[in-house]
Amino acid sequence: MPFLSMIQDWVMTNIVLVLSIIIILFVALTVFTVIRFNVLRKTRQLLYQDSLTGVKKILHLEKNFNNILVDFDRDVAMYYINIDNFKNYNDIFGFQVANKILEKFAERIQSQVNHDHVYRVHSDRFIILNPIDSSSRDTFIETLIDALKQPFYIDKQDINLTVSVGRYDISEANPRYHDVILAAELALDRAKTHGKDQMVLYTGDLKQAHKNAFDMFYFLKTALQDETFHLEFQPIIHTQSKTLAGFESLLRFDDKRRIFFPSEIIYYAEKFNMIEALDRLVVKKSLEAYQVLKKEAINFDFMSINISSRQIHNASFVTFMKQMIETYNIKPQTIVIEFTETLDPEGLDKESKFIDELRALGLKIAIDDFGSGYSSMLRLSRNALDRIKIDKSFVTDLMHSKRNQALIKAMVNLGHAFDLEVIVEGVENEEEYRFAKSLSIGFVQGYYFHKPLKLSTVIETFKNG
Ligand code: C2E
Ligand code: MG
Ligand code: MG
Repeated sequence: MPFLSMIQDWVMTNIVLVLSIIIILFVALTVFTVIRFNVLRKTRQLLYQDSLTGVKKILHLEKNFNNILVDFDRDVAMYYINIDNFKNYNDIFGFQVANKILEKFAERIQSQVNHDHVYRVHSDRFIILNPIDSSSRDTFIETLIDALKQPFYIDKQDINLTVSVGRYDISEANPRYHDVILAAELALDRAKTHGKDQMVLYTGDLKQAHKNAFDMFYFLKTALQDETFHLEFQPIIHTQSKTLAGFESLLRFDDKRRIFFPSEIIYYAEKFNMIEALDRLVVKKSLEAYQVLKKEAINFDFMSINISSRQIHNASFVTFMKQMIETYNIKPQTIVIEFTETLDPEGLDKESKFIDELRALGLKIAIDDFGSGYSSMLRLSRNALDRIKIDKSFVTDLMHSKRNQALIKAMVNLGHAFDLEVIVEGVENEEEYRFAKSLSIGFVQGYYFHKPLKLSTVIETFKNG
């Protein structure tokens, strides 16, 4: 009791001080709350708002899909919009103008849609949600397409473009985000293959394709969770001595019900944004195998690992590789990263930086399927590389095709002129091997020597030389 009254007395005599402390605390709390609110808002903005165009990122739609549909309170259509041949605009006008096109393009879409359900998927791909107008003819998309066809005035010039659109009318009671987006994307793919500059509605005949893709989505999701896949290793051979030079790791899925081709899986993994996780697991498993092979005293110079060119856009991939080579204590110059050309218009610029960063870690870079894409030369001129792998389609039927022989010769000369190591892959017989040997190519790879092998078979085959 005396203690409580002492406190009371103290408060009464120091009332001004007490009030000041309360006010200071109150002000500090208010300032803290405002700052916290702003930081949270900024973080949310960074996460959900596309910095180039200002529209929302697709992640926002993915996270809030069902709530957004409920808010519409009527049937909604999803439109998947893509600028036709956007890569050309990038090539012709340059990266900066191409970015301005995207900014203005997004602005124009927003001016035509009287709500804020416009999302950027990536690059020149956008999604719009719009209520279905069932009372009269639904003119929304035609008006939008017409508006987008009007020239864009950028850097004192008029730029014209056309778009392709896939549309899906969301009619299910509880639609799943991935179902809907896939349907709209399949319709878009159809619009593009039918000559672009048009809209295609997702209809029944797309259903089988949709089902296949959707099966693939769940298959991949499970495979990633349970790691139900393994790697095989195809030996790469020194051309002159026919001795072992290294291995290329290749993805294989353990599913008894059907055979999955890696290229098919990779296509869907990219489509469903699962490629990052998949590539990381492949790198990890490849390095584990590398260590096993070294422990078994198998004498090889390098392990080649395929990654998707999508990693070019993934800022954390380089850091991940750095961690991996440290964790597994592997000499970086014995790891070769292989990827094919990117089809993404923003890719070429980012590619050089990505390659430089990986090479700065000491890793080697190989361009896979060289000669098969349309930017092979451009990539030679822009990037510091270590190796090119000439696409096996040139080797198929090589002995009957003077043209392919000439092309391979030209590509080998080109590679050597840039001081690059050259690999010919898909060598299936003695004649093809002799041809490769006559061109002084460093390495060959193909069924003539070995098919991709299980790790245990590699050990059996190469142990003791
Ligand atoms: P790639 O990297 O060009 O791999 C070479 C492909 O050619 C492999 O097919 C290999 O099995 C096949 N091959 C090798 N020698 C011969 C031959 O003499 N004749 C014929 N006809 N084929 C031969 P695979 O394993 O089906 O892989 C196909 C593509 O899938 C790869 O092409 C690569 O782009 C991609 N891929 C494979 N594994 C991975 C992976 O782990 N990650 C990523 N991101 N992509 C992968
Ligand atoms: Mg490869
Ligand atoms: Mg290849």
